[in-house]
Amino acid sequence: AKHAGRDRVVLFETAMRLEIADRLGMQRDLRQALQESQLKVHIQPQFDAEGTTRGAELLLRWHSRSRGAVAPNLFIPLAEQSDLIVEIGNWVLMQACRLEVESKAAGHACPLSINVSPRQFRHPAFVEQVTQALASTGANPRRLVFEVTEGLLIEDLESAIARMRELASLGIRFSIDDFGTGYSSLAYLKRLPLYELKIDKSFIKDVPHDADSVAIVQSILGMAMHLGLHVVAEGVESEGQVDFLTQYGCSMQGYYFARPQPADAWLAAAVAH
Ligand code: C2E
Ligand code: CA
Ligand code: CA
Ligand code: CA
Repeated sequence: AKHAGRDRVVLFETAMRLEIADRLGMQRDLRQALQESQLKVHIQPQFDAEGTTRGAELLLRWHSRSRGAVAPNLFIPLAEQSDLIVEIGNWVLMQACRLEVESKAAGHACPLSINVSPRQFRHPAFVEQVTQALASTGANPRRLVFEVTEGLLIEDLESAIARMRELASLGIRFSIDDFGTGYSSLAYLKRLPLYELKIDKSFIKDVPHDADSVAIVQSILGMAMHLGLHVVAEGVESEGQVDFLTQYGCSMQGYYFARPQPADAWLAAAVAH
């Protein structure tokens, strides 16, 4: 029995070592993918309650030569363990600026949202990076929205607020992503230069049939209205959800309307309209 216990420990250690090796391997592949321009951005449109396009979110895609398609929920957290996320984030920022300029030239101006990880946001050179990206592309900052999560506000609220204000003074708008899933208090909301809340898809999933979800979504919408914030529901997949959300004048994003599509295709469709 003692022996079996030892074997299990050895097995466990081997599994751990494998997992660490794989993590390092994936980090190395991801860094290489970034350098070799293997990362792509997809775009998913957002619609207001009248059905008009009112924005679009950039979502990163990685198709690895050896691993195939790797989900962002897997490689983003991995990238967030080091400053690799800063490099990736800066690359996405540049893509957004370029797309803003190209879509405007195609007569299709709409705000573009990007996901900004806390580590990227807190990086000392972030404001400088944004300023440079704007200057080198000529992108209009008023058509860029930075989606940040509540996690950003937990560690050092005061410097997060200061930095948001600095970026807001450049024209950048802010959206709280996955709203309702964080642990932060609601008191911070009125202190932030916010434009938008994105209701997390876990709350949208069960409307309109689940009374608790309905109550949560209604209270977020009510609060946002009082604070003068725009609201987007994410993960909208069904007609029932659309009917419910439209009633409240909520904007929507989800498979019901459109899947994320390659940026080129999105731009081409924009030109055709
Ligand atoms: P997120 O920012 O909450 O993005 C929404 C996710 O929901 C996306 O997953 C999107 O493809 C998916 N989605 C859209 N419509 C529907 C729907 O109707 N139903 C369902 N079930 N899902 C829908 P995706 O593209 O796999 O990205 C996952 C997460 O990875 C994102 O969650 C975001 O946190 C992160 N991410 C993606 N791109 C970037 C990026 O460029 N930078 C950073 N920092 N994070 C990113
Ligand atoms: Ca997002
Ligand atoms: Ca989200
Ligand atoms: Ca999310």
